[in-house]
Amino acid sequence: MTTLDDPLPGGRPGDVERAGALSGELAGRGVHGIVLAYVDTAGVGRVKTVPTARLASAAAWGVGMSPVFDTFLADDRSVTTDVLGSPDGDLRLYPDLDRLVVLAAQPGWAWAPVDRVTQDGEPHPGCSRTFLRRTVAGAARAHGLAFRAGIEIEWSVGLDSAPAGEFVPATSGPAYGAIRQIELSDCAAELLAACAAQGVDVDQVHPEYAPGQFEISVAALDPVAAADRSVLVRQTIRAVARRHGLRVSFSPAVLARGVGNGGHVHLSAWRDGTNLHSGGSRRYGMTADAEAFAAGVLAHLPALTAVTAPSPASRLRLRPSQWAGVFTAWGLETREAAIRLVRGTAGRRAELANLEVKPVDLAANPYLALGCLIAAGLDGIVSAAVLPEETTGDPARLAPEEASARGVRRLPTSLGEAVAEFRADEVLRAALGPVLADAVTAVRQGEIEGVAGLDDERVAAAYRWVY
Ligand code: GLU
Ligand code: MG
Repeated sequence: MTTLDDPLPGGRPGDVERAGALSGELAGRGVHGIVLAYVDTAGVGRVKTVPTARLASAAAWGVGMSPVFDTFLADDRSVTTDVLGSPDGDLRLYPDLDRLVVLAAQPGWAWAPVDRVTQDGEPHPGCSRTFLRRTVAGAARAHGLAFRAGIEIEWSVGLDSAPAGEFVPATSGPAYGAIRQIELSDCAAELLAACAAQGVDVDQVHPEYAPGQFEISVAALDPVAAADRSVLVRQTIRAVARRHGLRVSFSPAVLARGVGNGGHVHLSAWRDGTNLHSGGSRRYGMTADAEAFAAGVLAHLPALTAVTAPSPASRLRLRPSQWAGVFTAWGLETREAAIRLVRGTAGRRAELANLEVKPVDLAANPYLALGCLIAAGLDGIVSAAVLPEETTGDPARLAPEEASARGVRRLPTSLGEAVAEFRADEVLRAALGPVLADAVTAVRQGEIEGVAGLDDERVAAAYRWVY
């Protein structure tokens, strides 16, 4: 393990020697190049690659990349803020050697997530991975808290041979059905093998509800590792599918109607090795801090959706009664509330109890999403926020008076409304810092303008193949 949190020009202690040894070992395993991966503000995965022999240089001095990508939109146009989006300047990408893996489904390649650092060696204020790391470190310092997170991944598998731009599902048969598992048998087995080879601990993979839809869940990790893993697993799913003539989309709404692709976040707060969501004296064994944490997330959810469901396509998914959790409500194992309290099976509760946050999709930058969810929960603890009464059943069925009496409200139905909530949310803006907060607002505004006048079908088509 490296000893300093942030990368330094010249290399974190030990990194350069380690990268030198690693590049020899990788070359011996037939690895020719390293994919340096990060996710932009719009939620698009972007990369640079270097030959394996350059790994030590990358660990010492980083790899150049323009900061303009902070304000790139999903369709590759770009917008500007006071300080971002200019063609000037350069950043250095530093691979995190602790997370470097040889890609099982892309022979000849290894992969590592990067931190972005200025040429003068300062953490780049637009670096979402640095933001999440700092948020987690701040929670440890100020509150003695640690977190475990897991991001579920749902995706749609289409035929590569489909007419340009169209989605033709690669499976038939009923939802969650045996037929679908058989149809993609080889591909799914290869995915499991690739995950195992890459050290990714898979909980389960299953055919989902929508046409061609599958889901994978992986073990919970510390938040930065969980976000890295989400990026790696998506890279792996896509690469495996390509080898089978299949095309993958993680878009929240591959089609304008019906159930979409979610990226539900499982999150738990821990102190001194103890899970705060279990063994306490409050409802369902929650501790007072766990209740306040959940209350904080709930209170900030309307604004959070500007980060957790950031695409115009996200709004096509966020519809009632489609398991996307579009109401500010929580409940024990309730799949229509925005927050599902997962208590865990008797015997494993201390280990597994967590909050599942549903209005999150895979257009979200996972580092921004996890950092903002944690910031919201911490605000709940700091302000001793009170968790309201739980909701059972589908909140969509509550009479309007009852919903408003319980504080159950529909999450923003447009990205514009979400951005307005986000702009007014001092807690999230302060957590992100002005550079990232302004990037979020500018990018969302750019996406909104990009789809002005488009109907739902055209919005779905516009984002179908970018996530
Ligand atoms: N596909 C649903 C969503 O968009 C989730 C289904 C499930 O609960 O797994 O969030
Ligand atoms: Mg699912």
